[in-house]
Amino acid sequence: MVASIQQPELNPSSGYVGRFAPTPSGPLHFGSLVAALASYLDARAHQGQWLLRVEDIDAPRCAPGAADSILQTLEDYGLHWDGDVCYQSQQSSYYESALGQLQAKGLVFFCTCSRSQLKGHDIYPGTCRTRVIRDQQQDCSCRIRVPDQQLAFDDLILPSYTENLALQVGDFILQRKDGPYAYQLAVVIDDALQGITHVIRGADLYTQTTRQIFLQQSLGLTTPIYGHIPLIMNGQGQKLSKQNLAQAIATKEAPVLLSQALQRLGQAPPQELIDAPIEEQLQWAITAWDRHKIPSLQEDPTPFVTTDSP
Ligand SMILES: [Zn+2]
Repeated sequence: MVASIQQPELNPSSGYVGRFAPTPSGPLHFGSLVAALASYLDARAHQGQWLLRVEDIDAPRCAPGAADSILQTLEDYGLHWDGDVCYQSQQSSYYESALGQLQAKGLVFFCTCSRSQLKGHDIYPGTCRTRVIRDQQQDCSCRIRVPDQQLAFDDLILPSYTENLALQVGDFILQRKDGPYAYQLAVVIDDALQGITHVIRGADLYTQTTRQIFLQQSLGLTTPIYGHIPLIMNGQGQKLSKQNLAQAIATKEAPVLLSQALQRLGQAPPQELIDAPIEEQLQWAITAWDRHKIPSLQEDPTPFVTTDSP
């Protein structure tokens, strides 16, 4: 069934709706804790709602039990969300509807290029852009025609960003050959359906924002305000992620790691609150929260301290 995309009325009390949207590819690690904390504090400091979305659209990337583990860790760290958790895996009818709208506007084309045909191209060369493929066949992805013009946005934390999608990204995929809708489409639809006004997230998504803004504009959806927080690097200068074996964070270390996460965000708690119970630290942090103190580039020479050895 195809569902229509309707943006909810904004909560009149503050009008701020934020979110945290983890991919359940493994347990929550320190880097994602910092991202979760930043979006939580920014929402709460503005009397806003803070929603949770599990980005489980790409089934092969999801680890069994990881979603539940992430939710439990957030609870253990005192980061309580509002409303029901949204699962991308249950939203397909909305993505289908959005794709249909873009198709009706003539913005979508089918692409039969194989991986080997695209080898060596950083930007899609436009091979199928003008070919007439009327019906989506097997072995065919959906791409969107991007405009040859500058698209810019202001960021709450990082500098403004400008990009020409045609020259720097190319016609990007909305639905993959093997069926799943692409992240870019899903995130735009979910942000609209959840009425998100502020997206505070990791800087790994900073340069993808223009693609999302283009999709919002093409679908007549409101563009949220974006703020990207610097990524937490490990000692080797790599982003902490499951791929480079960032460790899961333990509940018993919550007060220590919460203090460290606040320090990474430039919101170091006063001496007497370091390692205090999480509720006390969070209460202080909501009051003291200041986006301008978030360092715009962050590299830590030492991995975070943990009492568990790997
Ligand atoms: Zn193609």
